[in-house]
Amino acid sequence: MDFTKIKELDAKNYMNVFARQHICFTHGEGNKLYDTYGNAYMDFFGGIAVNCLGYNYPPLVNAIVEQSKKLIHISNIFYNEPQALLCDALLEGTMFGRAFLCNSGAEANEAAIKLVRKYFYASAKKKFKILTALDSFHGRTLATLTATGQEKYQKPFAPLPEGFLHVPFNDFEALKARVNSDDEIAAVFLECVQGESGVRPVDYEYLINAYALCKSKGILLVLDEVQTGMGRTGKMFGFEHYGVQPDIITVAKGLGGGFPVAACLARNEIADAFKPGDHGSTFGGGPLACAAALVVVNELKNTPLLSQVEKMGRYLSARLMKLRKYKFVKDVRGIGLLQAVELSKSLKNAEIAGKMLSKGFIINAAGHNTLRFAPPYTITKAEIDAMADALNEIFASTNI
Ligand code: PLP
Repeated sequence: MDFTKIKELDAKNYMNVFARQHICFTHGEGNKLYDTYGNAYMDFFGGIAVNCLGYNYPPLVNAIVEQSKKLIHISNIFYNEPQALLCDALLEGTMFGRAFLCNSGAEANEAAIKLVRKYFYASAKKKFKILTALDSFHGRTLATLTATGQEKYQKPFAPLPEGFLHVPFNDFEALKARVNSDDEIAAVFLECVQGESGVRPVDYEYLINAYALCKSKGILLVLDEVQTGMGRTGKMFGFEHYGVQPDIITVAKGLGGGFPVAACLARNEIADAFKPGDHGSTFGGGPLACAAALVVVNELKNTPLLSQVEKMGRYLSARLMKLRKYKFVKDVRGIGLLQAVELSKSLKNAEIAGKMLSKGFIINAAGHNTLRFAPPYTITKAEIDAMADALNEIFASTNI
């Protein structure tokens, strides 16, 4: 079908929730995507930090093909082997004792919110409020958009669920004051890096202090690792950079290498609060999704992929740092293969991302006027050089 017809059908039929770029991809290979006209694009976006193994990655494709020949779906009232293997591999070597599997980041966060509430409900403590950070992003279901500390995602959908509070990000005094003034707070819920709002890493001191505060108050620390988990930062989970021990984490995006699968991982004593009937999902933890995720987890554990993320992350960061010579580059920041360039108001991030796209490079315009880079973990030095050279050329020709 030609692209005009695809666009026509989309305009007629799909709910108008996405501001689409005028490209339709047909397939991918390695770290490149190809459109309906056969044009190639180097991918520094990874389907929003999802396609961690690039495209047409043989072990992932083979696992999906082989599993789909055996069993695609089975109800969670029965056991399935890929699910058992995935949970074991995910939890191995962590402080978490149990996992709940679902299909998206928002669902994993919903599971975490419900688990926090059930944990305190079961211990008859009147603690149910979830404290999150301003500028955070936790998803688009009603509870997770309420947890999200950005009014633009909430306003049209009122009334919102009760029991969500927000404090400024990376401001420990504000966090402490809020926690100390409200005995109903059950959990502090944070991202290790605020991805959607412009790749803003949590400060080391802040997270360490937040962790100690949670411990001293008997409340839970939940980390939303939907974007930072599964190797994105060069470690399996983002929190490993900080030496804290969260009670619950959520992972999604990279977990299935593109296949929809997500997880909420919790310490045993907290996970035990969930009893049969408290939570569930028809599709969550299906054998096909688990077979795909098992490939990602095994690649991260048994190959040099994680150290490659760290190495390429450092290289990408170094190349982006060179762009600070332009006065409109306000900041360059990130961890591993989640990096950003923040621009001053004189330059619009979406326009720069558009210019990069026309040069054959996919980068993303994120919050706070940033350009976000979240390439597959298989990205190479030469590909980073090509992208950084193209961006440098655009910046050099920008007349401001
Ligand atoms: N949490 C974080 C940190 C995210 O970055 C996202 C998505 O961008 C979500 C939650 C929501 O994930 P999903 O879109 O899979 O529901």
